[in-house]
Amino acid sequence: MNEKVLEKSIQQHFDNARSGSDFTLKLIDQITQQYNVDINKLLLATSLCSDEINPILYRLIQTIGNPFFMGGLAGYPFTGITGIKAFASHIPDQGAALILYGPHIGIAEDGEAGVLLRPYQKQPTTSCGALMMALQLLEKELPEVNKDDQQFQELLKLLSAHKNEIAQSENEKMEITLRMFKIIDTKMKELLQSNIQLFNGKKIFLVGGIVINTSPDYEDYFETLTNEVLNN
Ligand SMILES: [Zn+2]
Repeated sequence: MNEKVLEKSIQQHFDNARSGSDFTLKLIDQITQQYNVDINKLLLATSLCSDEINPILYRLIQTIGNPFFMGGLAGYPFTGITGIKAFASHIPDQGAALILYGPHIGIAEDGEAGVLLRPYQKQPTTSCGALMMALQLLEKELPEVNKDDQQFQELLKLLSAHKNEIAQSENEKMEITLRMFKIIDTKMKELLQSNIQLFNGKKIFLVGGIVINTSPDYEDYFETLTNEVLNN
């Protein structure tokens, strides 16, 4: 596969996806040049899936430093109110916060959504695994509560409110990912708004979207769906 074929596959599904390196560069430029933020005083938080296939995160870590991890399965901010409170109290004096959040989806060479060839594997696997598994189970009854699978069961509950729209869509795998973005976006903004006083007027760069995973040797992409500055 060449880069052009991959880009075409991604464009079938996303309007404005940019490569991970381009996305990172422009985001850091926006924060440091346009808003004059000292990069040493910028604290990163992420609400991305637990899946290790996440080069965008490593690029941001190299530039900004270790993040506060708010996300669990599918990128939902499972650390909740306690997570927001802790993160707010860790931001450097006269500093600012960057919160990057959203679900992820693999795009295969032929443009198929929801799968991904991982390094040193011959067969593709699902991505996001949790969302693709939820898709299989949405039509069934919610499973009995199992305290060893709390995150996944919460995802099923959140997504079951959207199951009709997902079932009726042209591409269920894309639709469940977009719906998950909306669920994460709503929850993140709700958590921030109800705790905004804890940020003491420090700027919060809120960037949400969809991480697009590709095959090994190729860059990942990011489709930005929200780019806001709070306390501006
Ligand atoms: Zn995932």
